[in-house]
Amino acid sequence: MKAVQYYGPQNIKLEEVMVKPPEEGEVVVKVMSALTCGTDVKTYRRGHPVLIKSVPSGFGHEFSGIVEKVGKGVENVKAGDRVVAANSAPCGHCFFCKKEEYNLCENLDLLNGAYAEYITVPARIVKKNMLILPDNLSFDKAAFCEPLANVVHGVERTEI
Ligand SMILES: [Zn+2]
Ligand SMILES: [Zn+2]
Repeated sequence: MKAVQYYGPQNIKLEEVMVKPPEEGEVVVKVMSALTCGTDVKTYRRGHPVLIKSVPSGFGHEFSGIVEKVGKGVENVKAGDRVVAANSAPCGHCFFCKKEEYNLCENLDLLNGAYAEYITVPARIVKKNMLILPDNLSFDKAAFCEPLANVVHGVERTEI
């Protein structure tokens, strides 16, 4: 497939790479829409040690698409489903997760690679943060799910 590979600040390339076959619990999604987040811009300009820990890496993390293939043991989605996934999922066991401060999770699973024809979503994100889209929701709108969730959470916390 064609995929954008991140090599470092201001160094990305469109390359031909293998689609990673799904291991147990993983899902391969055909990307239908991918957004550019402010974090992608920061990462492109000056790097991002938390989001991208080693290079080359896939790039882009807000997307929606169609399930292409599922790994063993996946029960919440099947091939052909229209889905959106967040770009992270907390472990549920660490100090911060126990306090329900999931964004501070010490073992956060992070996903990059939305600027590609396919993306292989890790098992924990499939299980905790992959959703099936209603028929009337477009892929472009659905890709906003995670940033929109941040806004909704902020509104709830501030009791606006
Ligand atoms: Zn983002
Ligand atoms: Zn945790």
